[in-house]
Amino acid sequence: MRPEMTPEEHDKCASVLERVHDFLDAELSDTDGDVIRLHLNECEQCLDEYDTEQEIKQLVQRCCGGSAPDGLRDKVRTKLQQAQSSHREAAES
Ligand SMILES: [Zn+2]
Repeated sequence: MRPEMTPEEHDKCASVLERVHDFLDAELSDTDGDVIRLHLNECEQCLDEYDTEQEIKQLVQRCCGGSAPDGLRDKVRTKLQQAQSSHREAAES
């Protein structure tokens, strides 16, 4: 969580992140999808999360033909987040 984030922003992020899966699966209406797309444009934190979810979705589709047990999703997510943060540290130093 960014320290400068207001409670309003946090609420917005929470509701966007809740629906990122639906957005990726194209299960949202155009209006709801636009809200998320706009938010991703201006919020790096949610964009990171969206990228992670998208990569997980692609990996899972490639390995399991579309569906994966929750445990596998979590494992993939942890690996991706580790990779992303070590990449970020390398870029900052
Ligand atoms: Zn956000």
